[in-house]
Order: sequence, then structure tokens, then C-alpha cells
Amino acid sequence: GHPVRLSVQVHPYAGNRRMLLTRDITSLEQAEAMRRDFVANVSHEIRTPLTVLAGFVETLQTLPLDAEERSRYLQLMGQQSHRMETLVNDLLTLSRLEGSAAPPVNRWTRVRALMAQCEDEGRGLSSRLAAQGHKLSFALEADSEIAGAATELQSAMSNLLSNAIRYTPGGSEVAVSWRLLPDGRGEYAVRDSGPGIAAEHIPRLTERFYRIDRSRSRETGGTGLGLAIVKHVAQRHGAELRIESTVGKGSRFALVFPVTRLRQAAVPAPSLEK
Ligand code: ADP
Repeated sequence: GHPVRLSVQVHPYAGNRRMLLTRDITSLEQAEAMRRDFVANVSHEIRTPLTVLAGFVETLQTLPLDAEERSRYLQLMGQQSHRMETLVNDLLTLSRLEGSAAPPVNRWTRVRALMAQCEDEGRGLSSRLAAQGHKLSFALEADSEIAGAATELQSAMSNLLSNAIRYTPGGSEVAVSWRLLPDGRGEYAVRDSGPGIAAEHIPRLTERFYRIDRSRSRETGGTGLGLAIVKHVAQRHGAELRIESTVGKGSRFALVFPVTRLRQAAVPAPSLEK
């Protein structure tokens, strides 16, 4: 444990009897320190693209540039604005997840649809990031449904896939799968053959703004909030986030959902394999 700090106050409503209230304020102080860190981090993350943007504005105003140079600068400015927009969107997503009640468990979302959306986004991202793309594969073992909020589930699943693609060199394998575990739970997993993650980083990955390779994260449009969002979505759905990784071999991120059911298909479902 930590050294305990107590706050002592005399309770105003105790009348003649003196009543002392003591409580451990260590956790309050920790929460306050975390809040300060968070504000400092957000400010830094916003200031960086803003500074770059302001620099480009000044350049455009002061240097005589030809049309081609101007359009190059405008394109770079667009990238920085986009980066800020992504950051603000992720921040809003996080705060919404923290400030709202858990989604109802009587709404069912079809895993096939979630996987299909992942596939679309994954193929798009892969072709933008790597000339030769990635060897993406998608396997749906059982056509199940998950209880919860479709948009949240989609964002968690897409986040794990986008990380696998962004941190893995073009040409390498990324395998996405859904299967039922022997105990009846459902597992969504993304396995990559990328650089892997050293053991000491793994417990910290879901912290906001925690990044192992800052420049790679920025380059590929990362905000440092992706896994924090995944963790929140998992918690709200009673799911477990499992991370396994071997440096030099690759990583496996999985979400294990407690409440799933098999889809009672009225029509034969088309195969997902492409
Ligand atoms: P970011 O926006 O930086 O990707 P995340 O919260 O999604 O933020 O991930 C945190 C960090 O975890 C990343 O910056 C990266 O260093 C590491 N990471 C996440 N997924 C992988 C992966 N599949 N392979 C290697 N490193 C990863």
C-alpha cells in the first residue's frame, strides 16, 4: 500500500458531541493529479498541430509562393486540422462513455455486420498506409449476436484492427476472428505479425495518451486514446480485454464477451470469406 493521508474535520451537525470525520484522501489526490496530467496532455496534443498550422499560415502570408507550393501548404494544413478533429472526436467519445449509463443488454448486434464494417475500414486503411497492403483475413466461426450498443462495439473492434494495421509493416499478416469459447463466451480477436510489444508496456497501453512509439502513432493518425476507448467499451459490456504479445513476433488483442447468442438465421447467410 501507499502511505495513508487523512483529512480531519469536525462535523458541524454533531451538536455537543464532538464528532471527528476522517477519510483517506490519498485517492482524491491521485484523482486530482490524474486530472491535471490529462489536461496537460490534451493541451499539448492540441497545441502541437495548432503551432504547425499557425506556422503555415504565416508562411503563406509572407512568402511569395507559386500555385503548386501554395496547394502543398494547404494540403499540409488540412492534415493538421484533420488531426485536431480526430483528437477532439476521440475525447468526446471517451467523455460520453464515462458519463453515460451502460447500454441495455436486451439489444442485440450481429457480429457478421460488425466484422463486415471492420473489413471495409481495414482494407481502406491498409491500402492508404502501405503500398502493398496487409494480408488481411476475416473468419467468423459462428454467426452470433452480442448484447450491447452497436456503435460502441463497432468502435472498439475497429480500433483494435486499425492498431494492428497501423503498427504492422505492409505485407504482413493481420487475422481477425470471431469464435465461441468452450464456456459459451464469444471472442473477437485481432492477431498481427508486427513488431510486438514489450511486457512492461502492456499494463499501461489502455492509459490515455500512453504510446510506445510517439512518431509512428502520429504518422498513422493515432491520438493515443484508442485503447482507452476500447477499455471503456469493454467494461460497459462486461467484456474482458486480453492482450498477448511477443516482441519480434506480433500481438494478439482480444475482447471476450459474456453475453452472446447464436443468430437464428431465417435465410442462409452469405459467406464472409473473400
Ligand atoms: P494510438 O492512437 O497511439 O494508436 P492506442 O491507445 O490505440 O493509441 O494504442 C496505444 C499504443 O499501443 C500505441 O501508441 C502503440 O505504441 C501500441 N500498440 C497498440 N496496438 C499495437 C499493435 N497491434 N502492435 C504494436 N503496438 C501497438
